[in-house]
Amino acid sequence: MRILLAEDEPPIAEALVRSLRCAGYAVDAVANGSDADAALTTQSFDLLILDLGLPRLSGLEVLRRLRARKTTLPVLILSAQDCVEDRVRCLDAGADDHLGKPFALRELEARVRALTRRGSVIPAQIDFGQLAYFQADRVVKVDGQTVDLSARELGLLEILLLRAGRMVSKEQLVEQLCCWDSEVSTNAIEVYVHRLRKKLDGAGVRIATVRGLGYCLEKSDAWPGGEDIPIRTAAEG
Ligand code: CA
Repeated sequence: MRILLAEDEPPIAEALVRSLRCAGYAVDAVANGSDADAALTTQSFDLLILDLGLPRLSGLEVLRRLRARKTTLPVLILSAQDCVEDRVRCLDAGADDHLGKPFALRELEARVRALTRRGSVIPAQIDFGQLAYFQADRVVKVDGQTVDLSARELGLLEILLLRAGRMVSKEQLVEQLCCWDSEVSTNAIEVYVHRLRKKLDGAGVRIATVRGLGYCLEKSDAWPGGEDIPIRTAAEG
């Protein structure tokens, strides 16, 4: 789950980035409308959190340009004046939700959860082996017991789960897990995988290494013979 945050007030932006990253989202932040517009035309996101009062290009104009490109990206608008007229204009321009400042972080997080559920193809619950992943709460359970995972471990597992049985390259993992100001190296990916393997011991799943290419989440009885799985799955990646 990758979020673009367009907010020009540093204290608000910093608080939002921190809290959303803690919740396990990859967050990229920009501080003006034209950077937001540029990021939206060149990269893909799962949600846009858009301040209305942005320098260089207003939030409303960023939204209009986005919708003119016929994208269905969910958009949550933040605005300083929480007036009815603002809300109507934003909704008419294609916003999905609206939050007036000041707001409680908990409310913003709840709205983000609702919007990312709506905009994505991620089902509410994914079952794989003895493992169950509850997307809305970002909780992983094995045989009903919650597994204690860091935000990065959870993000990595989510990507592997969504493509279970198929190879995910290290580059794809790096791209999906990284944020502009917090790079994730391929070495770090190896560390997360190592930790996940330990934590998911007994879950009936395993993260197989596709030699030199990436990883594949398998049910643990899928390839009982060895550590590595055949390369043929690489073509699907
Ligand atoms: Ca502003």
